[in-house]
Amino acid sequence: MAARTPIVVGNWKLHNTIAQGETLVTELKNQLGTIRDVEVGVAPVFTSLSSISKRLGDSKILLGAQDCFYENGGAWTGEVSAPMLVDAGCSFAIVGHSERRANFGDTDSVVARKARAALDGGLSVIVCVGESEQERDSGKTMERVGTQLSATLEVLTSEDLERVVIAYEPVWAIGTGRTATPAQAQEVHAFLRKQMSQRFQGVGAGVRIQYGGSVKPGNAKELMSEADIDGALVGGASLKAGDFGAIVKACSARQS
Ligand code: PEP
Repeated sequence: MAARTPIVVGNWKLHNTIAQGETLVTELKNQLGTIRDVEVGVAPVFTSLSSISKRLGDSKILLGAQDCFYENGGAWTGEVSAPMLVDAGCSFAIVGHSERRANFGDTDSVVARKARAALDGGLSVIVCVGESEQERDSGKTMERVGTQLSATLEVLTSEDLERVVIAYEPVWAIGTGRTATPAQAQEVHAFLRKQMSQRFQGVGAGVRIQYGGSVKPGNAKELMSEADIDGALVGGASLKAGDFGAIVKACSARQS
């Protein structure tokens, strides 16, 4: 199996005007221009995508959206579809983020439809899974993430997997300053990988699994040293070029 190239993505959430986003990616381009062994992406708000795409120019930094609707067009007020995201310069979309699941009714089946639509529209997709604190405390972590993952695996083929990244994001660690220990994260990542390998035989072993949940420059290297952690989905720390750059470099160091 070929080595899995780490992937680090900044989820900017509902932050940054167009001008602020342009400044941030300009700083990232300057900082990360020489990094070759890590894929790097940013996911700004929809309204900034086209401008940020132009500012990224021929940079290797990937542009993605924080969500992607499951229909391509029609009477769906407020939604944005995969072909429109491609048109705006995106190469990937995040689906199933816990904030979407909790606040916007994105069920496992909606997330699966969104993932399918993103792939059909020509995007790669990051599919987020993660348990709540209550689920962890009651020993239901694997059951919860397993159910979330299998709903999306149902709609995928093994050929799709090259364009799929899984993000394990324990809900209790997102934006809280609490991080899963490397051992806790590794246990879940290994479980998710096994589930993919069982469904898709050898192919699942090559799928990248990011960790997300209060990743910072100070904890990234330790997390990345685990065998099944292949990068990070970063919220708060992705808003500062210095912090995000340091996290990317921590992932790069894993390979050296
Ligand atoms: C996220 O929003 O995906 C995330 C992991 O946020 P934070 O890094 O702020 O915990």
